[in-house]
Amino acid sequence: MIHTLIQDITELKRSEQEVEKLSQTLTTVSHELRTPLNAILGFSSLLLENAFGKTNETQKDYLNEINNAGEHLLKLINCILDLSKIEAGKFILNKEEFNLLKMLLEIRSIVKPLYGIKGLNIIFEGIDDSISLIADPLRFKGVLLNLIDNAIKYTEKGNIIFRGIEKKDHWEFHVEDTGIGIAEEDKDVIFKEFGRVENDKIKHITGTGLGLTLVKKIIKLHGGEIWFESEFGKGTTFFFTMPKLSIQNISLLKQHELIRGLKTYD
Ligand code: ADP
Repeated sequence: MIHTLIQDITELKRSEQEVEKLSQTLTTVSHELRTPLNAILGFSSLLLENAFGKTNETQKDYLNEINNAGEHLLKLINCILDLSKIEAGKFILNKEEFNLLKMLLEIRSIVKPLYGIKGLNIIFEGIDDSISLIADPLRFKGVLLNLIDNAIKYTEKGNIIFRGIEKKDHWEFHVEDTGIGIAEEDKDVIFKEFGRVENDKIKHITGTGLGLTLVKKIIKLHGGEIWFESEFGKGTTFFFTMPKLSIQNISLLKQHELIRGLKTYD
């Protein structure tokens, strides 16, 4: 049902009121789904922590299945909510200045359990403490997490490199991995909604197929671009750009949004 609603919003040419109405329905449906999901996630976590007595191995396996499925559904709902907001033009970026290295270090520690267990390394190149960016920090962090999480998910050995290259009016960033790569015939599905590569090597890896759709839209909203190069069996590099903004640009932007009535500032 959610898939159909999203298709309704994105694929068909609809009036603004219709998009608004569909997006509202989607928001309501998503919120309604989150309430029972919180119970599923909360209670399965409690049981896994042996809060009500020790669970045996089979019970633990099933509880893990329940918890993972719940997490997957939550990711799906959050992505769908964000995508529907973007389509309805209601997704507002709160741009501010932040330190890139600090954010990257936070991300590296969040994903440490995922890459540490595989013996991978995450290396930063061209990044130092002096780099500050102006973007929506929450959304930018989401973009980085998604790209780095994918690099880890689809890599079994080697390194993941996060590289920053300063250009005249923008930054170019690379997320490079030594993973399974993407075959020529699969390259078209990568940024598509619910687009996932299907082959035996990765059928056990879970995902929503919505992460890169959202990443692309968020980068575009920031005025950047994203693309990738990949060699099957060797690895993949995602490239994206972010315009360099100054604080002056930001205050002009805020004034512009205020005039358009898009946002209120204290
Ligand atoms: P998912 O949640 O399935 O990872 P994404 O939208 O993030 O969804 O990615 C879409 C598809 O692109 C993935 O299912 C995977 O097949 C492919 N993909 C993304 N990143 C990589 C990568 N670093 N290496 C190989 N394949 C990738």
